[in-house]
Amino acid sequence: MSMEQGSLSINSENIFPIIKKWLYSDHDIFVRELVSNGCDAITKLKKLELMGEATIPEDVKFKVDVEVNPEEKTLTFTDNGVGMTADEVKEYINQIAFSGATDFLEKYKDKASEDQIIGHFGLGFYSAFMVADKVTIDTLSYKEGAESVHWESEGGTEFAMDKGEKAEVGTTITLYLNEDSYEFSNEYRIREILTKYCSFMPVEIYLTKANAEPEYETIDASEVREDDVVIENIVEEAKTEEKENENGEKEVVEVSPRKEKAKIKKRPVSLSDTTPLWTKHPNECTEEEYKEFYRNVFHDYKEPLFWIHLNMDYPFNLKGILYFPKLNTEYDNLEGVIKLYNNQVFIADNIKEVIPEFLMLLKGVIDCPDLPLNVSRSALQNDGFVKKISDYITKKVADKLIGMYKVDRENYEKYWDDISPFIKYGCLKDDKFRDKMKEVIIFKNLEEKYITLPEYVEAQKDGEAEEQKAEDATVNEADNNESEAEKEEEPAVVYYVTDLQQQSQYINMFKEQGLDALILTHNIDQPFITQLEQGDLKVRFQRIDADVTDTLKEDVDEEALKEETDTLTEVFKKALGKENLLVKVEKLKNESIASMITLSEESRRMQDMMKMYAMGGM
Ligand code: ADP
Ligand code: MG
Repeated sequence: MSMEQGSLSINSENIFPIIKKWLYSDHDIFVRELVSNGCDAITKLKKLELMGEATIPEDVKFKVDVEVNPEEKTLTFTDNGVGMTADEVKEYINQIAFSGATDFLEKYKDKASEDQIIGHFGLGFYSAFMVADKVTIDTLSYKEGAESVHWESEGGTEFAMDKGEKAEVGTTITLYLNEDSYEFSNEYRIREILTKYCSFMPVEIYLTKANAEPEYETIDASEVREDDVVIENIVEEAKTEEKENENGEKEVVEVSPRKEKAKIKKRPVSLSDTTPLWTKHPNECTEEEYKEFYRNVFHDYKEPLFWIHLNMDYPFNLKGILYFPKLNTEYDNLEGVIKLYNNQVFIADNIKEVIPEFLMLLKGVIDCPDLPLNVSRSALQNDGFVKKISDYITKKVADKLIGMYKVDRENYEKYWDDISPFIKYGCLKDDKFRDKMKEVIIFKNLEEKYITLPEYVEAQKDGEAEEQKAEDATVNEADNNESEAEKEEEPAVVYYVTDLQQQSQYINMFKEQGLDALILTHNIDQPFITQLEQGDLKVRFQRIDADVTDTLKEDVDEEALKEETDTLTEVFKKALGKENLLVKVEKLKNESIASMITLSEESRRMQDMMKMYAMGGM
């Protein structure tokens, strides 16, 4: 028997220790790689059949079988896809090992940090050597007259190839696990990994344990399917009883009918949902399906507020569903998760190179088969195409929110408290998003109504104008014009409340004077209003308990309050132990309030900022 032999190693170096080292934290991806190779092989065969280049037996059920063998410490992956001829094994397995290894070493030999490589993204077939000392391939090509091939390699440095014994078209990959990787022959461990990476793969996936006791179930004979393994047909004869009828005659009645049943081998259940919701057209999905998908994928039993179904084929292929989660409380941390898929194969959560950072506050899935995933993260970050995808997702989210503001304002307002931290964060992080969203940012005011910033400014202007008219009827026209001109240049002051309880005294005062303020209670609001102050709308935010506003105080000569000022300055100097203290006393119009202390907006914001930094910041 002639065994063809060859060497996979280049130079004197072996690539596999390098792979092992770099992918250390992500050993389990070999499962995904081998299962997805099986899926690819099945997809190829289906395509070939469509093109009339392959014939598939009618009763074939495409699937990938994963079998663990804890006794032998092996793991096998079997698919019934295209299979490979000996030439194909040489080309795709042997040669690629060679060139792949060269590429890999060339690319990464100088880069010390693990970070440089997308550990998540596959090294394909070779990832098997992260966990196995020996890997074998048994394969039979769909091609007419093809002969089966057996290939094996130990430690990934050399291979041996020979005629094999595989009788069915497809491929079986067997891993002889290394000592550190015996965990992967554990059924539950593999189930966990398959659930993580393969839940939505387009082919059915089954997990079995070698030599496990078979399990059976008994079903109605009429429900037996062609692919069931029937162990025994069971007939339960009808049961009858003798009973007396109305006329006192004895009669035989049937109490249970004759039943035909079958004991069958328990049907395996696929671990994958081959047509996940995002692959369907939005018109074909029901509200309940969206909610159920959300529960299943994110294990969040609070209902999402609403969602966006992304579905595009051009200029790139992208599908997905983004959910806006409900917050627990207004102080809830925003911690979403965006799962990224490539052709229904899970890649990773929250890949910031592809998904705009602020969108990661949502919960969702994105499937983008066009993503170039076999490159380093830094290359992904600088990839124009990836940027376009990321921009598209942002635009879609903004469009949805703007659409809602325009045609469904009621719901928009209802959800506002939940979605506003997300929107504000988006505005802070993404200029394009802010430019689109700025018209639809709303604020809750003291009357618990939702208004836009221009609406607030307008209403305040009206209020002040009336007040001015009523009180300063004596002021001459020239003066009036002058003060108006001054106001034009001054930014409009926007009063806000951060704590309804603590600031209730001020709120009452404001209300009595017919003034309004905006309620901004989330900690994202501080950076957000700072950004608004720098925007095109000329505004200056001032907390309701900051400096006393002109409309609240009486116009009194400073001299008239000199005595009070001096006394209070002394009191405060003593109380605070500070010598250089500037105390300013003003007279309030409102007589129900004995006194109040204010802290200037700037000093308070400074303090808040320090606090935020100390806590780790936003
Ligand atoms: P990739 O899947 O990115 O091409 P892999 O290293 O995973 O890289 O696989 C290399 C090649 O080996 C595949 O492109 C395919 O041609 C072949 N191959 C691997 N696994 C199988 C399989 N189960 N069935 C048929 N061909 C396979
Ligand atoms: Mg592959």
